[in-house]
Amino acid sequence: MLNRRKFIQLTGLTSAFISTSSFAGRKALVKGPIVLSTWAPNVKANKAAWDILSKGGRALDAVEAGVMIPEADPTDTSVGYGGLPDRDGRVTVDACVMNEKGQCGSVMGLEDILHPVQVARLVMEQTPHVQFVGEGALQFALSKGFKRTNLLTPQAEKAWKEWLKTSKYDPMRTIKDLEEKIQREKNNDGAMLYKWPSELLNHDTIGMIALDADGNLSGACSTSGMAFKMRGRVGDSPIIGAGLFVDNEVGAATCTGIGEEIVKICGAHTIVEMMRHGANPEEACKEAVRRIVKNNGDNAKNVQGGFIAINKKGEYGGYSVMKNFTMALHTTDTEKAMDVKSWF
Ligand code: ASP
Repeated sequence: MLNRRKFIQLTGLTSAFISTSSFAGRKALVKGPIVLSTWAPNVKANKAAWDILSKGGRALDAVEAGVMIPEADPTDTSVGYGGLPDRDGRVTVDACVMNEKGQCGSVMGLEDILHPVQVARLVMEQTPHVQFVGEGALQFALSKGFKRTNLLTPQAEKAWKEWLKTSKYDPMRTIKDLEEKIQREKNNDGAMLYKWPSELLNHDTIGMIALDADGNLSGACSTSGMAFKMRGRVGDSPIIGAGLFVDNEVGAATCTGIGEEIVKICGAHTIVEMMRHGANPEEACKEAVRRIVKNNGDNAKNVQGGFIAINKKGEYGGYSVMKNFTMALHTTDTEKAMDVKSWF
């Protein structure tokens, strides 16, 4: 048994608890498969990736399978089906992939397609291009046999109608509302337990990076973007170098948060370059955070950017601007969720 899961019925809520404790009797991982994702609830997505990695599968296949979990999950309000719409009530999704050969593909502002990460992979593998947007991305997906799916759930539509009453765009409030729903408790062994209400089994953009048994790195990122964004807005998530970057000689990085701030510092690329020059994954993520904090001056406490990275040796780390950012890890030794250190 790799970890302990408890499903506890609370008054009117089902909460999932994930223990951070690792289990005795297993050697600490030095080299070998590792998958790391943004957000504690993505232990579930990691599991799908681990099914592939643990059998010697390719990191690219693992991250694609992992990211498909929240994409299809109606309880995730920031990714794929169930994602909150733009201010016109339309769910538009962004996703990208990058593999060990430095190849990449992305889709932006895609509508009506359940698995944008799969479309991004086909952009990479079956076209001479790297980025498809809007109507063209949809046409490409349909030409490859994807079927149209309405991504707007009744819950997301209700939230949008509620939002229309004020029409105030406040991405930090949306992020904090989500983050504050994850609660922490220590168990008797001192291990941290995370719990979240059933309507929030997963939340927020998923960025997933993995190192496979052959020592190859890949990553994927998928989001429905900031809730109630202006139509046509694209954040960092599908932008190679911002939301995701992989260099198979060095490491991989991905992120979540206010996309505009992450794009301004080329977040994921900055982190990989820091690792190239000797920083460990946490130090490299901290440098990306430092740049966001510097750019925002007195307003820095109103910005969130959460970064995660792994290097070629299988070391991992993360850092965020504001507290409450979490990451999910799966290795041969452990399957756990962790708080990430923050600037504030
Ligand atoms: N980074 C995403 C975006 O700006 C949103 C998020 O991570 O929640 O679209």
